[in-house]
Amino acid sequence: MHTLQENCWICQNLHQPANLVIWETKTSIAKLNPDQLFPGYTFVTLKWHAEHLTSLSPSDQRRFLGDMTTLANTLAKALKPDRMNYELLGNAQPHLHWHLIPRYTTDPMWGRPVWAGNRRRKRLTEDAYLELISKLKNTLAKTRDTDESGSE
Ligand SMILES: [Zn+2]
Repeated sequence: MHTLQENCWICQNLHQPANLVIWETKTSIAKLNPDQLFPGYTFVTLKWHAEHLTSLSPSDQRRFLGDMTTLANTLAKALKPDRMNYELLGNAQPHLHWHLIPRYTTDPMWGRPVWAGNRRRKRLTEDAYLELISKLKNTLAKTRDTDESGSE
């Protein structure tokens, strides 16, 4: 059953904050992390409550992985990071969500996981969030056109 849970913070905030939504499919919703210490840090969240990748049907697994990969391709093209971290953890918030973390040789934690040690947070101005999201949306549209023409 594809349902939301009342006691799950992620279920109750799927579409929030609305201004940070980049993309939505029937399976996933992609939102920019409000904390942009790592430029382009994005969450790709399953749109119903499930806690284990292994508990999804094979077709839902493929869709969820496919949506995450599409976003990763988009971040790579738009922001040209030096590395991408793909993380599916579920320790603090068990609802399935990918952390896509573009990493840069100039970032303050280069060579280590972003979770190692204390790190500061970085909020952007409303204009800067808008600018980044519109850049990602434009790149996503081009990425998906290329995918479609490539499969013809
Ligand atoms: Zn949930």
